[in-house]
Amino acid sequence: MIMAEVKIQIIYDNTINSQFEGTSLKSDWGFSAIVTTKNHKILFDTGAKFSILYENMLRLNYKPEEIDTVFISHEHKDHIGGLMGFLKKNPQVTVYIPNSISESKKKEIIKAGGQIIETSKITTLFDNIATTGPMGTDIKEQSMIIMTTKGAVIITGCSHPGIVNITESVKVLSNVYAVIGGFHLFREKEEKIKEIVDEMKNEGIEKIMPAHCTGEKAKEKFKEEFGNKYLEAGVGSEVLI
Ligand SMILES: [Zn+2]
Ligand SMILES: [Zn+2]
Repeated sequence: MIMAEVKIQIIYDNTINSQFEGTSLKSDWGFSAIVTTKNHKILFDTGAKFSILYENMLRLNYKPEEIDTVFISHEHKDHIGGLMGFLKKNPQVTVYIPNSISESKKKEIIKAGGQIIETSKITTLFDNIATTGPMGTDIKEQSMIIMTTKGAVIITGCSHPGIVNITESVKVLSNVYAVIGGFHLFREKEEKIKEIVDEMKNEGIEKIMPAHCTGEKAKEKFKEEFGNKYLEAGVGSEVLI
């Protein structure tokens, strides 16, 4: 039981949160977070390598068998790579996947014992947890929406459909309180980064935690522009709502 409504902790990221520097937590290209609510422990994405996911989980006091739900944003290796290893430790989970995921991957998950539920559109999954459903044209990706008393908290994997598009899509449900995850700006030019940061500023978000493929340059820009609304990501970082 936690005091907060929701706790979100980053388990896998390209960097280590500065509070955890010098500890044995490992960083690696990829993303995963654990969302703890009153009734559930949800693994959002699984990073690239299960060995790193597992070690970081244990060091942050999570056990695979405590997880009841897995939410996969998209099929890229840096998000789904740890899934098979995880299912070996705990196959008793419901795995929410975008229906765009390949048939071979779906079969693999079922064979490993996971119960899959495919998502196709913006919808509530259970309790206060919703999905945007698969968005985008090229690389389809779903983002998680956590409905809290302060508004929606969005968790993104890579934001291939565009972080602004994702944020906008959630507004049919609620105001957006926080956005956490990879924003995929690491290859963008400064001008484009500035444009996105400005657009996100217009969204009225109260907390922003750019992680993973956002890239260091874009992170700096978000930090500059969002001030005390900016939260530092990295393995170990947590958001309590
Ligand atoms: Zn990706
Ligand atoms: Zn990624």
